[in-house]
Amino acid sequence: MKKLSSFVLAVLAFSAFSLQTVAQSKTENVILMTLDGARLQEMFGGLDAEIFRSADKNFEKKATYKKFNAATAIERREKLLPFFWTELMENHGSIAGNRSLNSIVKTTNTHFFSYPGYSELVTGTARDSIIDTNEFGQNRWPSFLNFLQKKMRLTRDQAAAFGSWDAIELISTNDAKAFVVNSGPKGFDAPGIDPVLNEAAALTIGPAMSVRPDYFTYKFALDQMKKHHPRAMFISFGETDDWAHQRDYEKYLQSWHNTDAMLRGLWIFIQNDKQYRDKTTLIITIDHGRGNTGKDWSDHGSDVPEAQYIWMAFVGPEWSKRGEWKDSAEIYQNQVAATLTKLMGFDYSEQDVNAGRPINSLLLR
Ligand SMILES: [Zn+2]
Repeated sequence: MKKLSSFVLAVLAFSAFSLQTVAQSKTENVILMTLDGARLQEMFGGLDAEIFRSADKNFEKKATYKKFNAATAIERREKLLPFFWTELMENHGSIAGNRSLNSIVKTTNTHFFSYPGYSELVTGTARDSIIDTNEFGQNRWPSFLNFLQKKMRLTRDQAAAFGSWDAIELISTNDAKAFVVNSGPKGFDAPGIDPVLNEAAALTIGPAMSVRPDYFTYKFALDQMKKHHPRAMFISFGETDDWAHQRDYEKYLQSWHNTDAMLRGLWIFIQNDKQYRDKTTLIITIDHGRGNTGKDWSDHGSDVPEAQYIWMAFVGPEWSKRGEWKDSAEIYQNQVAATLTKLMGFDYSEQDVNAGRPINSLLLR
């Protein structure tokens, strides 16, 4: 009898332990979302009048100014990104990178331009001496998407990368055929895609020759989610960077605002879908920052050190933190791959021992 009791106790203790380990991670799907070169100054402060002035002397007469200007930084950013700041950050997630609150997020690569930034995000490692051009072509290193696909035995449709910039499909994987990739000024050749949308994507000129309007990226990603429910995804918006390079502050701001609406659309879908609701973790971030003077806000790269500062938002069922991070330890772009895969129950160092480690402060409740 005594023996039996200890056996029962041992079984109970073991079950409780297993339940606890299972309960620790509710994440069954992960999504990395990026906005190309969208400055932290607008993320945390909304419309920046000094930058607007440098782009246009008559800026105060512009409809965009009237639409997004307000007395305080908090009011301005809520006008620019109403869904992000009022719904997502109040009820579902948190954001790091506001330097005035002593929260710093940086790239570890020292190039501060797109390919090295995206590659650092998806592979977890900066390779400055090798990856030093946007024309690098097919990535030579596997990404967190490749890793999760292998670990979870995902089909070609259950991992996916969609981007507005044409290089996104090359950066996302070292194997072009492993999973669904679609980026650049073209449609999405998948069964059942709305032909009108597909034709519009192919025949609409984007903000740069290599970039399609973000709306198509959004719609194609959403279509994939509805039909195939990918467990691991990368969605990369591009417009903000191109309008900034062109010093068109109005279109740059409007792109931010439109991206907020698309993020809302994705969120509504996620929260109304059985596979995704309360089981999906998102990291939303940027590939690089940009300058912060009237002269260099449009630019980024190793000669614009301000561009090393980025922001990073975290939304998911594991994370109870809300709003802005304050007085927190510095975090890095190379920690994203390991953080997302850890939430899915895997150790990213199996794929890359040099990759950034999971973001610790997030994993503590
Ligand atoms: Zn970029």
